[in-house]
Amino acid sequence: MRVEMLSVFPQMFAPYLDASIMGRAQRAGVFEYEAYDLRDWTHDRHRTVDDAPFGGGQGMLMKPEPLFEAVRDIAASGDVRPYVVFFSPCGTVFDQAVARRLSTCERLLFVCGRYEGMDERVYELADETLSLGDYVLTGGELPALVVTDAVVRLLPGALGDEMSAQDESFSDGLLEYAQYTRPQDFEGRTVPDVLVSGDHAKIAAWRRQNAVERTARWRPDLLDDVELTKEERALAERIARGTSE
Ligand code: SAM
Repeated sequence: MRVEMLSVFPQMFAPYLDASIMGRAQRAGVFEYEAYDLRDWTHDRHRTVDDAPFGGGQGMLMKPEPLFEAVRDIAASGDVRPYVVFFSPCGTVFDQAVARRLSTCERLLFVCGRYEGMDERVYELADETLSLGDYVLTGGELPALVVTDAVVRLLPGALGDEMSAQDESFSDGLLEYAQYTRPQDFEGRTVPDVLVSGDHAKIAAWRRQNAVERTARWRPDLLDDVELTKEERALAERIARGTSE
Protein backbone atom coordinates (compact mmCIF):
# COMPACT_ATOMS: atom_id res chain seq x y z
CA MET A 1 0.00 0.00 0.00
CA ARG A 2 1.11 3.54 -0.71
CA VAL A 3 -0.03 6.29 1.68
CA GLU A 4 0.43 9.95 0.78
CA MET A 5 -0.20 12.99 2.93
CA LEU A 6 -0.69 16.57 1.86
CA SER A 7 0.04 19.00 4.68
CA VAL A 8 1.66 22.29 5.58
CA PHE A 9 3.67 20.32 8.17
CA PRO A 10 4.99 17.31 6.21
CA GLN A 11 7.80 16.87 8.76
CA MET A 12 5.27 15.70 11.37
CA PHE A 13 4.85 12.22 9.88
CA ALA A 14 8.35 10.68 9.96
CA PRO A 15 8.86 10.62 13.75
CA TYR A 16 5.85 8.37 14.16
CA LEU A 17 5.79 6.38 10.94
CA ASP A 18 9.51 5.58 10.88
CA ALA A 19 9.48 4.12 14.41
CA SER A 20 8.33 0.83 15.94
CA ILE A 21 5.75 -1.29 14.09
CA MET A 22 5.07 1.29 11.38
CA GLY A 23 8.80 1.55 10.68
CA ARG A 24 9.14 -2.22 10.56
CA ALA A 25 6.12 -2.51 8.27
CA GLN A 26 7.78 -0.10 5.86
CA ARG A 27 11.03 -2.04 5.92
CA ALA A 28 9.06 -5.25 5.30
CA GLY A 29 7.51 -3.63 2.21
CA VAL A 30 3.99 -3.66 3.67
CA PHE A 31 3.50 0.04 3.01
CA GLU A 32 5.36 3.14 1.92
CA TYR A 33 4.46 6.77 2.48
CA GLU A 34 5.27 10.19 1.12
CA ALA A 35 4.37 13.47 2.81
CA TYR A 36 3.99 16.46 0.48
CA ASP A 37 4.31 20.12 1.45
CA LEU A 38 1.21 21.97 0.27
CA ARG A 39 3.31 25.13 -0.07
CA ASP A 40 5.07 23.51 -3.04
CA TRP A 41 1.84 24.23 -4.96
CA THR A 42 1.80 27.97 -4.23
CA HIS A 43 3.04 30.60 -6.68
CA ASP A 44 3.66 33.69 -4.57
CA ARG A 45 6.76 34.86 -2.74
CA HIS A 46 5.27 34.07 0.66
CA ARG A 47 4.02 30.59 -0.32
CA THR A 48 0.57 31.52 0.93
CA VAL A 49 -1.91 28.72 1.64
CA ASP A 50 -4.53 30.63 3.68
CA ASP A 51 -6.79 33.65 3.46
CA ALA A 52 -9.50 35.41 5.50
CA PRO A 53 -13.05 34.02 5.38
CA PHE A 54 -15.70 35.85 3.36
CA GLY A 55 -18.37 37.20 5.68
CA GLY A 56 -15.87 37.81 8.47
CA GLY A 57 -15.09 35.67 11.48
CA GLN A 58 -12.15 34.31 13.39
CA GLY A 59 -8.94 33.03 11.84
CA MET A 60 -7.92 32.01 8.35
CA LEU A 61 -9.07 29.36 5.91
CA MET A 62 -7.04 27.20 3.55
CA LYS A 63 -7.30 28.65 0.06
CA PRO A 64 -8.73 26.48 -2.72
CA GLU A 65 -6.06 27.03 -5.43
CA PRO A 66 -3.05 25.19 -3.89
CA LEU A 67 -5.28 22.35 -2.68
CA PHE A 68 -6.94 21.83 -6.08
CA GLU A 69 -3.61 21.99 -7.90
CA ALA A 70 -1.84 19.69 -5.45
CA VAL A 71 -4.54 17.02 -5.27
CA ARG A 72 -4.94 17.01 -9.07
CA ASP A 73 -1.16 16.73 -9.59
CA ILE A 74 -0.68 13.99 -7.01
CA ALA A 75 -3.71 12.05 -8.24
CA ALA A 76 -2.48 12.21 -11.83
CA SER A 77 0.95 10.84 -10.86
CA GLY A 78 1.54 7.10 -10.53
CA ASP A 79 -0.32 4.19 -12.11
CA VAL A 80 -3.19 3.99 -9.66
CA ARG A 81 -5.47 6.88 -8.79
CA PRO A 82 -5.42 7.43 -5.00
CA TYR A 83 -8.52 7.22 -2.84
CA VAL A 84 -8.66 10.78 -1.50
CA VAL A 85 -9.56 11.33 2.17
CA PHE A 86 -10.03 14.75 3.75
CA PHE A 87 -10.25 15.32 7.50
CA SER A 88 -12.80 17.47 9.26
CA PRO A 89 -14.87 17.35 12.46
CA CYS A 90 -17.82 17.43 10.03
CA GLY A 91 -16.85 14.11 8.41
CA THR A 92 -18.04 10.54 8.94
CA VAL A 93 -16.69 9.23 12.23
CA PHE A 94 -13.72 6.93 11.67
CA ASP A 95 -14.03 3.41 13.09
CA GLN A 96 -12.64 -0.08 12.59
CA ALA A 97 -15.07 -0.82 9.75
CA VAL A 98 -13.75 2.23 7.86
CA ALA A 99 -10.18 1.12 8.62
CA ARG A 100 -10.98 -2.31 7.18
CA ARG A 101 -12.49 -0.75 4.06
CA LEU A 102 -9.51 1.59 3.54
CA SER A 103 -7.09 -1.32 4.00
CA THR A 104 -8.28 -2.67 0.64
CA CYS A 105 -7.07 0.48 -1.19
CA GLU A 106 -3.80 0.32 -3.07
CA ARG A 107 -3.14 4.04 -2.73
CA LEU A 108 -4.49 6.54 -0.21
CA LEU A 109 -4.08 10.32 -0.19
CA PHE A 110 -4.79 12.07 3.11
CA VAL A 111 -5.40 15.81 2.89
CA CYS A 112 -4.75 17.55 6.21
CA GLY A 113 -6.50 20.77 7.16
CA ARG A 114 -5.09 23.53 9.38
CA TYR A 115 -6.17 26.96 10.63
CA GLU A 116 -9.95 27.34 10.84
CA GLY A 117 -10.40 24.70 8.17
CA MET A 118 -10.76 24.76 4.39
CA ASP A 119 -12.67 26.64 1.75
CA GLU A 120 -15.82 24.53 1.31
CA ARG A 121 -15.26 24.08 -2.44
CA VAL A 122 -12.23 21.81 -1.93
CA TYR A 123 -14.33 19.00 -0.49
CA GLU A 124 -15.43 18.06 -4.01
CA LEU A 125 -11.90 16.62 -4.38
CA ALA A 126 -12.58 14.15 -1.57
CA ASP A 127 -13.75 10.60 -2.07
CA GLU A 128 -14.56 10.67 1.62
CA THR A 129 -14.25 13.06 4.57
CA LEU A 130 -13.45 11.54 7.95
CA SER A 131 -13.72 12.82 11.50
CA LEU A 132 -11.80 11.33 14.38
CA GLY A 133 -14.56 12.20 16.82
CA ASP A 134 -16.54 15.00 18.37
CA TYR A 135 -13.68 17.29 19.33
CA VAL A 136 -11.54 19.80 17.48
CA LEU A 137 -7.84 19.28 16.81
CA THR A 138 -5.49 21.94 15.45
CA GLY A 139 -4.82 20.04 12.24
CA GLY A 140 -5.42 16.96 10.12
CA GLU A 141 -1.94 15.50 10.68
CA LEU A 142 -2.88 13.52 13.80
CA PRO A 143 -6.02 12.14 12.10
CA ALA A 144 -3.87 11.12 9.10
CA LEU A 145 -1.43 9.34 11.42
CA VAL A 146 -4.23 7.66 13.37
CA VAL A 147 -5.92 6.40 10.21
CA THR A 148 -2.60 5.27 8.69
CA ASP A 149 -1.75 3.32 11.84
CA ALA A 150 -5.19 1.68 12.10
CA VAL A 151 -5.19 0.77 8.39
CA VAL A 152 -1.58 -0.42 8.08
CA ARG A 153 -1.80 -2.76 11.10
CA LEU A 154 -4.59 -4.61 9.24
CA LEU A 155 -2.34 -5.33 6.26
CA PRO A 156 -0.84 -8.82 6.03
CA GLY A 157 2.67 -8.84 7.49
CA ALA A 158 2.37 -5.51 9.31
CA LEU A 159 2.31 -6.95 12.81
CA GLY A 160 4.75 -9.76 12.20
CA ASP A 161 3.99 -13.40 12.90
CA GLU A 162 3.76 -13.04 16.64
CA MET A 163 0.88 -10.61 16.70
CA SER A 164 -2.49 -10.54 15.12
CA ALA A 165 -5.22 -7.99 14.56
CA GLN A 166 -7.71 -10.88 14.42
CA ASP A 167 -9.12 -10.97 17.93
CA GLU A 168 -8.71 -7.37 18.98
CA SER A 169 -11.46 -4.97 19.98
CA PHE A 170 -14.03 -4.48 17.19
CA SER A 171 -12.77 -7.43 15.11
CA ASP A 172 -16.01 -9.26 15.97
CA GLY A 173 -17.95 -6.13 16.87
CA LEU A 174 -17.17 -6.49 20.59
CA LEU A 175 -14.59 -4.84 22.83
CA GLU A 176 -11.64 -7.06 23.60
CA TYR A 177 -11.80 -9.36 26.65
CA ALA A 178 -9.61 -8.58 29.70
CA GLN A 179 -6.01 -9.79 29.42
CA TYR A 180 -3.45 -10.53 32.11
CA THR A 181 0.26 -11.31 32.28
CA ARG A 182 2.65 -12.30 35.09
CA PRO A 183 2.59 -12.16 38.07
CA GLN A 184 -0.46 -14.31 38.65
CA ASP A 185 -0.96 -12.59 42.02
CA PHE A 186 -0.18 -8.88 42.13
CA GLU A 187 -0.61 -7.49 45.65
CA GLY A 188 -3.58 -9.81 46.20
CA ARG A 189 -5.19 -9.10 42.80
CA THR A 190 -5.31 -12.50 41.17
CA VAL A 191 -5.79 -13.58 37.58
CA PRO A 192 -9.05 -15.49 36.89
CA ASP A 193 -8.36 -19.20 37.52
CA VAL A 194 -9.68 -20.29 34.14
CA LEU A 195 -6.89 -18.41 32.33
CA VAL A 196 -4.23 -20.54 34.00
CA SER A 197 -6.21 -23.78 33.68
CA GLY A 198 -4.72 -24.74 30.31
CA ASP A 199 -8.24 -25.65 29.10
CA HIS A 200 -8.46 -23.81 25.79
CA ALA A 201 -12.17 -24.35 25.25
CA LYS A 202 -12.96 -22.93 28.69
CA ILE A 203 -10.58 -20.02 28.11
CA ALA A 204 -12.28 -19.21 24.79
CA ALA A 205 -15.72 -19.36 26.45
CA TRP A 206 -14.55 -17.10 29.33
CA ARG A 207 -13.07 -14.59 26.87
CA ARG A 208 -16.23 -14.46 24.79
CA GLN A 209 -18.41 -13.88 27.86
CA ASN A 210 -15.99 -11.30 29.24
CA ALA A 211 -16.03 -9.45 25.90
CA VAL A 212 -19.84 -9.41 25.92
CA GLU A 213 -19.90 -8.16 29.53
CA ARG A 214 -17.37 -5.38 28.91
CA THR A 215 -19.14 -4.26 25.75
CA ALA A 216 -22.51 -4.23 27.54
CA ARG A 217 -21.00 -2.16 30.38
CA TRP A 218 -18.92 0.35 28.41
CA ARG A 219 -20.22 0.42 24.84
CA PRO A 220 -23.76 -1.01 24.76
CA ASP A 221 -24.33 0.86 21.47
CA LEU A 222 -22.01 -1.66 19.76
CA LEU A 223 -24.24 -4.60 20.66
CA ASP A 224 -26.95 -3.56 18.19
CA ASP A 225 -24.75 -4.85 15.34
CA VAL A 226 -23.37 -7.99 16.99
CA GLU A 227 -24.78 -11.48 16.71
CA LEU A 228 -25.31 -12.76 20.26
CA THR A 229 -26.73 -16.02 21.54
CA LYS A 230 -29.94 -15.87 23.59
CA GLU A 231 -27.89 -16.28 26.78
CA GLU A 232 -25.43 -13.56 25.78
CA ARG A 233 -28.27 -11.16 24.91
CA ALA A 234 -29.89 -11.84 28.31
CA LEU A 235 -26.54 -11.23 30.06
CA ALA A 236 -26.07 -7.96 28.18
CA GLU A 237 -29.58 -6.85 29.13
CA ARG A 238 -28.96 -7.66 32.80
CA ILE A 239 -25.77 -5.59 32.72
CA ALA A 240 -27.60 -2.72 31.00
CA ARG A 241 -30.22 -2.80 33.77
CA GLY A 242 -27.42 -2.86 36.35
CA THR A 243 -28.35 -6.33 37.60
CA SER A 244 -25.45 -8.47 36.43
CA GLU A 245 -26.28 -11.37 38.80
N1 SAM B 1 -13.31 25.27 12.17
C1 SAM B 1 -13.37 23.85 12.00
C2 SAM B 1 -14.70 23.35 12.60
O1 SAM B 1 -15.17 23.95 13.56
O2 SAM B 1 -15.20 22.31 12.12
C3 SAM B 1 -12.21 23.17 12.70
C4 SAM B 1 -10.91 23.33 11.98
S1 SAM B 1 -9.60 22.51 12.79
C5 SAM B 1 -9.02 23.75 13.88
C6 SAM B 1 -8.35 22.43 11.55
C7 SAM B 1 -8.24 21.10 10.85
O3 SAM B 1 -7.97 20.08 11.79
C8 SAM B 1 -9.46 20.63 10.11
O4 SAM B 1 -9.55 21.21 8.84
C9 SAM B 1 -9.25 19.14 10.03
O5 SAM B 1 -8.42 18.78 8.95
C10 SAM B 1 -8.51 18.85 11.33
N2 SAM B 1 -9.39 18.36 12.39
C11 SAM B 1 -9.71 18.98 13.55
N3 SAM B 1 -10.50 18.24 14.31
C12 SAM B 1 -10.71 17.08 13.64
C13 SAM B 1 -11.47 15.91 13.90
N4 SAM B 1 -12.18 15.77 14.99
N5 SAM B 1 -11.44 14.94 12.97
C14 SAM B 1 -10.74 15.07 11.83
N6 SAM B 1 -10.03 16.16 11.52
C15 SAM B 1 -10.01 17.16 12.41
